[in-house]
Amino acid sequence: MVIDFSQSNNIQKVLEKLRKYDKREIQIKNIQNLPHNKTALGGVDDSGKDIIIYLNYDMPFEIQEETCVHEILHIILEHEGYPTISIKRKYYNNLSENSKKLVRRAIGQFIDSIQHPIIFNREINDYHLDVDKCFSQQVIQKVNRFKKRKTNVKKQHFYFLNQQDILVSMEYFYYPKKYSDSVLEKYSVFSPDAYRSSKKLFKKIENVGFINPISCYRSASIIKKHIIKYGKRKGLIKYNYIWENIEIQKGTPTQ
Ligand SMILES: [Zn+2]
Repeated sequence: MVIDFSQSNNIQKVLEKLRKYDKREIQIKNIQNLPHNKTALGGVDDSGKDIIIYLNYDMPFEIQEETCVHEILHIILEHEGYPTISIKRKYYNNLSENSKKLVRRAIGQFIDSIQHPIIFNREINDYHLDVDKCFSQQVIQKVNRFKKRKTNVKKQHFYFLNQQDILVSMEYFYYPKKYSDSVLEKYSVFSPDAYRSSKKLFKKIENVGFINPISCYRSASIIKKHIIKYGKRKGLIKYNYIWENIEIQKGTPTQ
């Protein structure tokens, strides 16, 4: 089922906000069109002439509505001058296709980890979304992620996956309490070593927060440092280059 934008006040509200900055056409596509992550809730590609929002047509209206608001908020944050994540070109260009894929995934996870705390906060406070339905679904997605995690991998790769778990986990602390507790409890069972490191990282960023572009930049820098330090402790070299070559750039607000 495709959702009808005009039937959602929440989507109208977020679109109105986007239109202050960005007048591009929006295309909605089924997430099935993306080769990877067909079971994800959504995604956005705003690198082209049109903005393309991917939704999971198998999900109920409330979930697709939230996903749509969520993806548009990602674009709005960039216009508001929140930091962006990129990779040093010189490093990236010399990588194999496989490594490039890993890097692109790491960048996506990093962007989500610094933007989701703000996005969830706005979703809860500025919109009338079905919060319970949406965060229950978030928890389901994350538990599936744990279950899919490979365990029979080389030690280096295992700790690289842990680094990604730590990065992805930052958002768990910003779910409404009931859902936060639930996903963290499952995380502690599936990946105890990463979980312990996540708790420590959250303590470091808790008071810095993500409330404006400056605090978001500071938290992003703390996260990067923590992930690299974790890798060093586990003896990672090649995988740690990925994080070391990731650049956090201060954004520029669109006037
Ligand atoms: Zn997102």
